[in-house]
Amino acid sequence: MTVNYRRTSLDRDTTFYIPKVECFACNDSGIVTNGDNAINRFIPDYDRDRNGKINGGQDLAIICHCKAAYGNSDEENESHGYRDSLGNIRTTDSIRGEPQALGISLEKEKIRLIHTERKASWEKTAKDINETRQKIAKGEKYETPYYIQVVKEELTKVGDMFSFPTEKAIVESMSDKQEGL
Ligand SMILES: [Zn+2]
Repeated sequence: MTVNYRRTSLDRDTTFYIPKVECFACNDSGIVTNGDNAINRFIPDYDRDRNGKINGGQDLAIICHCKAAYGNSDEENESHGYRDSLGNIRTTDSIRGEPQALGISLEKEKIRLIHTERKASWEKTAKDINETRQKIAKGEKYETPYYIQVVKEELTKVGDMFSFPTEKAIVESMSDKQEGL
């Protein structure tokens, strides 16, 4: 049997959906994501190096408070999930054989705030985009939402994305030598 993963073209062209998750703090993974730096409001240097540069994964994972963090308690094997049934974060053996927490906790209210704000922001985006798409479908005039303009502008700079500083330095040092000759 082939899986039908296509939406009807009308639906695809006119409807933008927000992610189908229950928890926008962790996207139902149990680990709070920080792609929008929401965690840095509470822990300014979280996943950042000494110079403040983002360095994802350098700090311990922040375990969510939603049910995704608990796994399925109906299962016989209760080792699933990042928290035990009491809400404590589970531990694992470190390479030195000592128990090590799977992650850390942030207060529930903070995680709830991240969830609520992200959800609201997705809903706003969906509303804007769906309005724009409907205007396009009807042939009406529309204004591109500002954040799409921002992304478009960012994409024009994408050409620089693959010019690594080291390569630039090598090329520059080589041309310096040539000039010296
Ligand atoms: Zn969650």
